[in-house]
Amino acid sequence: MKIKQMPTELANKIAAGEVVERPASVVKELVENSIDAKSTHIKIEIDEAGIERIKVTDNGEGMSPEDSERAFLPHATSKINDENDLFHVHTLGFRGEALASIAAVSKLTLKTSTGKEAGTKLYLEGGKIIHKEKSDARQGTEITVESIFYNTPARLKYMKSLHTELGHITDLLNRLALSYPEIRFEAIHNGRTLLKTTGSGDLLQVIAQIYGIATARKMIPIHHETLDYEISGYIAKPEVSRASRNFISTIINGRYIKNYPLAKAVIEGYHTLLPIGKYPLAVINIKMAPILVD
Ligand code: ADP
Ligand code: MG
Repeated sequence: MKIKQMPTELANKIAAGEVVERPASVVKELVENSIDAKSTHIKIEIDEAGIERIKVTDNGEGMSPEDSERAFLPHATSKINDENDLFHVHTLGFRGEALASIAAVSKLTLKTSTGKEAGTKLYLEGGKIIHKEKSDARQGTEITVESIFYNTPARLKYMKSLHTELGHITDLLNRLALSYPEIRFEAIHNGRTLLKTTGSGDLLQVIAQIYGIATARKMIPIHHETLDYEISGYIAKPEVSRASRNFISTIINGRYIKNYPLAKAVIEGYHTLLPIGKYPLAVINIKMAPILVD
């Protein structure tokens, strides 16, 4: 017999490689879960570009003691009940793989409570629950991921420099903050503030918090509405330009997307106002019926 079934642990590790490519993917999955849990305040603490530690604390719905354990099973999700739901999910994630995958390649501590009963604290290594205890009833969830890839050294070796990894994390956090001005984000790397937004809901304020007040003062509000879509946001005056098109953020129905034609349209809108090799800074929000978005 040549065909064998893999042990679950190995299968989880392989699946994990697809979800957890680098520390920034862990930050993305954890913060998106916090957003899905309706958090209004999300704190992200990172050490050594996430290789040492990634801690995300939110004030969202939290999990019951039973759910807190189920969350780590492969394909465990509270966001899909049946096939029908697949066509109208409003949450960011629903494949139910992230927590199981992250836990499979790290040492993870979860502390969570719905605020209605005592909370739960779990400690996992390589995806296995090692320790479980009751904790306080502060509503929300706190997940600490340590020693990422400790049991997959090949993956760890493949990591680029800390500088590169931190760059990916910073880009991601900026995009999330721009997409959710009503959420208060606080991100700290090695004890230093990376990002701090107020959660006031004012996009221009988030732009100021990320790109600086001087830049925010040079942004022009835009608004355009048709029966099919609504576009709003801010575009920079031509005097504020950047050396890459990375500063054109496009958000469709609250979700940050990379869309080349859209970025190109924005650039073309400036005609010859921008010098060659320079790109505008813009944050464009598009709202349209979900059915029109592929
Ligand atoms: P998915 O997000 O695709 O459902 P995950 O593995 O990311 O799968 O999470 C599994 C489940 O754990 C979620 O469906 C949710 O019920 C719960 N969960 C994860 N993170 C949080 C959080 N920060 N607050 C509340 N519930 C959470
Ligand atoms: Mg998720």
